[in-house]
Amino acid sequence: MIKEFFRKRSINVCIVNTGGCNGCDIELVSLLASRYDIEQYGIYVHNNPREADVLLVSGPVTLPWKNRLKELYEKTPEPKIVVAVGACALSCGIFKEGNVCGPVDKIIPVDATIPGCPPRPSEIIQAILKVAPIALSKREEHLKKIASEN
Ligand code: SF4
Repeated sequence: MIKEFFRKRSINVCIVNTGGCNGCDIELVSLLASRYDIEQYGIYVHNNPREADVLLVSGPVTLPWKNRLKELYEKTPEPKIVVAVGACALSCGIFKEGNVCGPVDKIIPVDATIPGCPPRPSEIIQAILKVAPIALSKREEHLKKIASEN
């Protein structure tokens, strides 16, 4: 009950690196520092897919991550918004010729993309704020559906 109350008013994101160089992760983590302070927008990073509204996925999808990413996606509750972060997540980037399974949208559905190698934190925030209203309204619809079924 309390969990649902807070979930109605905030967006929880989970950062997943499926095999990138960590350059995108450094930019993603900088969102938590005082300069960008992503929590001021009601966006919280919980690296638990079971509590996430938005999955921020960076890197090309490497073989060990192929099934793992599908599992994480399955564990994520609705609205399950996926944002592919950086050139590798979009098109495998510099790892294109390597032993990778493909970009993120080849493995799970992607709702938004952020190009760049790596993208700037401000671009990542803009993308999250763009998908946040979609996530909130989809979640609201989902909760109403569950309530009407009970
Ligand atoms: S997009 Fe660039 S910074 Fe991000 S994981 Fe790929 S190579 Fe690294």
